[in-house]
Amino acid sequence: MTERILIRNAKILTCSAPTPRAVPGVPGGGSGAGANVGTGSDVIADGDLLIEGDRIARVAAGRIEIDSGAARVVDLHGAAVLPGLGDAHVHMSWPLDFVFDHVSVANAPAAPHALDVAAVARTFLESGYTLVVGAGVSQPFDDVRTRDAIERGLIPGPRVIPSGTMITERGAISADTGMTSVVSDARDIREVVARQCDTGVRALKLFVSGDGIVPEYPSDDLYMNDEMLSAAVDEADRYGAFITVHARGSDSVAMAARNGVRVIHHACFLDDKAVHELEARRDDVWVCPGLHYLYAMVSGHAEPWGVTPEKIERSGYEKEFHAQVEGIRQLREAGIRILAGGDFGHQWTKHGTYAAELQRYVELVGMSPQEAINTATRNMGPLVGLDVGQVRAGYLADLLIVDGDPLADITVLQDPDRRRTVLKGGRFAYVNPRMFP
Ligand SMILES: [Zn+2]
Repeated sequence: MTERILIRNAKILTCSAPTPRAVPGVPGGGSGAGANVGTGSDVIADGDLLIEGDRIARVAAGRIEIDSGAARVVDLHGAAVLPGLGDAHVHMSWPLDFVFDHVSVANAPAAPHALDVAAVARTFLESGYTLVVGAGVSQPFDDVRTRDAIERGLIPGPRVIPSGTMITERGAISADTGMTSVVSDARDIREVVARQCDTGVRALKLFVSGDGIVPEYPSDDLYMNDEMLSAAVDEADRYGAFITVHARGSDSVAMAARNGVRVIHHACFLDDKAVHELEARRDDVWVCPGLHYLYAMVSGHAEPWGVTPEKIERSGYEKEFHAQVEGIRQLREAGIRILAGGDFGHQWTKHGTYAAELQRYVELVGMSPQEAINTATRNMGPLVGLDVGQVRAGYLADLLIVDGDPLADITVLQDPDRRRTVLKGGRFAYVNPRMFP
């Protein structure tokens, strides 16, 4: 018989209402003032939820009456239930103690490295994250094998949309590190995309701009071209995969948008052309900023690990940070969907602190907590083509249960002591051991 779980007396954040378009010129960007909080269908103050097998069967305000012997009953006494969170810019390859030593991770012996990656997968799940989208690996099969091990039940972890080795152009950033797939033209890139997809990769990562942290390759640098990008998108499409890009400068964002790239990471600088290209593809493009990372860098959080103020000065990150905050506001006004995701795993943006990204959206950009949560829930489902990211009948029962109210205080999502339980596909995937004395 299908297993049934009845979750009672919950505050339910359904994340089912569309994020309203921000209004230009209004402080906080318009929707920040509470238009999307506590109104109608988005939040059920006191409700029940019935899970059957791996899916949500019913969501109701008030009580669901069923024969109590027919389901396992879990009384939450007012705790909050929301969709399991998602992160769209993930490097599972970076171990819990990672300190920017990409080359040593890439060359680490395979067996201990695999255990490091397993620990990261578990950390995502225990942090309330039931979905991750890879943004490039250090060893070619890190994401694919971890996904397989999770699906076989060997290790705990989120749903994984696997990435592969990062792809860059000859002469461009990261081309001489020995850790990337280096391509010269459209034919090359088609070949590399196909080969990665054959191994199970579904989110391919390309560099189309530089990055100020490596001063020889400034963020405004533009790599690859329309022909290469459209070839990559076309080839990925044949496998049901999609292209994501590292794109910091506005020309790289515009090029990615007009060629059908699905996820544009960073998008720090935006001009009118870039915004128009994004608007033209509003229904099938997402922007994943990684704001907390820039915030931490310009706030000196990386200084104990040798990222000196001089290095930050040289990187241009201060300017980039302010441009990004402004850019996210522009994107909200243009109705472009934002994805939470943040390059977590450095010691100054440690694994397990993923929801700090949402806090920055609230504090720096002026999103309402609900809008920020939508970037990690509602906006993720259509990206990956799964029924996830909403608490809704028919959707997969990927759920996070927390003590406290994330709509009153978004930082609740970062507090390990408040995380009670994570369900994935209707199963208790994590139960906080601290809850039981
Ligand atoms: Zn990254």
